[in-house]
Amino acid sequence: MEIQFSETDGTQTGSVAALEALLKKVRHPFAPGDAVGIKLHWGERGNESFLEPVYARTIVSWLASLEARPFVFDTTVLYSGGRRLGKDSLETAARHGYTAEYLGCPLVIADGMDGRDVIDIPAGYKHFATVQVASLLQSTPGFFIFSHFKGHLASGYGGAVKNLSMGFASRAQKQRMHADVRPTLKPGKCTRCGVCVQVCPSKAAAMTPGEPPRYDLKRCIGCAQCIAACPETALKIQWNASPEMFQEKLVETAAAVWSQIRHRSVLVNALIKVSAECDCLPGKAKIIAPDFGFLAGASPLALDEACVRFLGADTITAAHPGLAWQRQSTYAREIGFIT
Ligand code: SF4
Ligand code: SF4
Repeated sequence: MEIQFSETDGTQTGSVAALEALLKKVRHPFAPGDAVGIKLHWGERGNESFLEPVYARTIVSWLASLEARPFVFDTTVLYSGGRRLGKDSLETAARHGYTAEYLGCPLVIADGMDGRDVIDIPAGYKHFATVQVASLLQSTPGFFIFSHFKGHLASGYGGAVKNLSMGFASRAQKQRMHADVRPTLKPGKCTRCGVCVQVCPSKAAAMTPGEPPRYDLKRCIGCAQCIAACPETALKIQWNASPEMFQEKLVETAAAVWSQIRHRSVLVNALIKVSAECDCLPGKAKIIAPDFGFLAGASPLALDEACVRFLGADTITAAHPGLAWQRQSTYAREIGFIT
């Protein structure tokens, strides 16, 4: 499957030039007058490795040159922080420079400001018969899926497949995908700082003074926010089921979304600022690879696999040792989600 690549010299100016060069040769389905939603991640509040808005602005300019009507969007998330509701998420976007004034187009919360503007679409796979996603999926003529390729604590890496999946999913669907993740404490590492309790959206994490935190696994919704936020890495994932199941659910949701939008979409992955963890986490994640540039392709799986080849599988394994992250690829093939 053909992948187009545009190399950066590693500077921001060079990366913008690389993206512009890629856009000049990318095939697209957009007609003048089409509203085109640019799906991207503007970073959790406090995250420092998200993609700067200059790349989104470059895409907006390109779409405007096609006489399309671009807008930028994301969905609400499960956990507490800066993106749980639409209002918070737009504030976080603005802090990161994603404003309508700068981008030259509106910003939209695709599942509504309260996260309730959702629809069910068919899936027909072993985990999900249907998946629930932002209603905007149905009403928008075109999509530009702009994915920041980087590491991820539960799936090894996140790219186009994850952006289509978690990125379009309603909060309920996000919860269904996370349902098998639970925290487990390595007591010797815990400093009893209380961060895990502060970030827990379901009050499943609790502490009494002088005691280590406890986690009520019946209340836990598996959002993994405590695991991600712990400054001492004192929490690790305890899987309720096989660790691969999260990836399978991720892939099924992406496949269902892609089946609805593939003929009206463009896919571009950014292989710059490649951090060990995803942009959902606050703080500065370790950068695990040099900046390569931007890739375009017709298949989300092929695009992500091309990014894996650039990085080298060992780089992902080193960032997330012991995680069978290859399940995204093998399961996508098993269910025929390859184009
Ligand atoms: S965030 Fe980590 S170190 Fe702090 S109390 Fe929770 S488990 Fe312990
Ligand atoms: S205890 Fe469960 S619900 Fe609370 S932050 Fe951790 S994973 Fe999320």
